Amino acid sequence: MFGRVDQGRRRGRALLAWIGLLLFVVSFAWLQRLSPILGPQVDIRAPATDGPFALVVLDPGHGGQDSGTMKAGMLEKELAIDVAHRVERLLQLQGVATLLTRTGDTYISLADRAAVANAQRNCVFISIHFDDAARPAATGVETYYAAHQISNSTRAASWLPFLQRTSMESANVESQSLACLIQEALVTRTQAVNRGTTPQQFFVIANVCHPAVLVEGGFLTNADEMNKLATGDYREQIAAAISDGLMRYREVLQQQRTPLAVNLPGGE
Ligand SMILES: [Zn+2]
Repeated sequence: MFGRVDQGRRRGRALLAWIGLLLFVVSFAWLQRLSPILGPQVDIRAPATDGPFALVVLDPGHGGQDSGTMKAGMLEKELAIDVAHRVERLLQLQGVATLLTRTGDTYISLADRAAVANAQRNCVFISIHFDDAARPAATGVETYYAAHQISNSTRAASWLPFLQRTSMESANVESQSLACLIQEALVTRTQAVNRGTTPQQFFVIANVCHPAVLVEGGFLTNADEMNKLATGDYREQIAAAISDGLMRYREVLQQQRTPLAVNLPGGE
């Protein structure tokens, strides 16, 4: 009695296995027939665009109650947003999507600026500033990158109090390359003194998990440079240089899958 039941169960299982196999073969054949109708299969892992970045986040420094450097009625926050809007226009003309961390004269914290970029999946981040110095002779353009930036994994785990942020920072060849290319274009376009590229752990770039640089487009404390910055033509050249550097960076990434640090004469 017991043996017969056992045998029956085994037959039942074998039958189920055959039915399962048959269903698998039939559904596979059905999907094969259906695929030309559905069109080519979409790989959901593919990036939104074929470029190395889908978006440029522009960060005009300061804003609102934080004017940045002020000299003879010229405010760093106003220069920064003017240049950011110019870069935005130039990039959009070339089909590159942009996003500004502020569009008006509003105060945005450094953490919120970084968060705008970190909410994006595939972007680069450009912070735009102008310089000041105690020495009026100080002049020129400079581009900063953070030698260490947070990574995506750092960001995901940053809420865990027992994880050390510093231990998860990633070395940063992309940002350095981007800084070098923008700096080269700035010097070419403006003919300003080349102060090179400098690694600096500025909060707003160190806390972005995408390639990020901070541009200092000249000294408000230098009379010659301030006179140039007062003209729309000069600010357009700064914007064009940032756009040139970004497009060149995109070309380099497209040419070589693993980005290499770009060494420039005069660059740090
Ligand atoms: Zn500034």
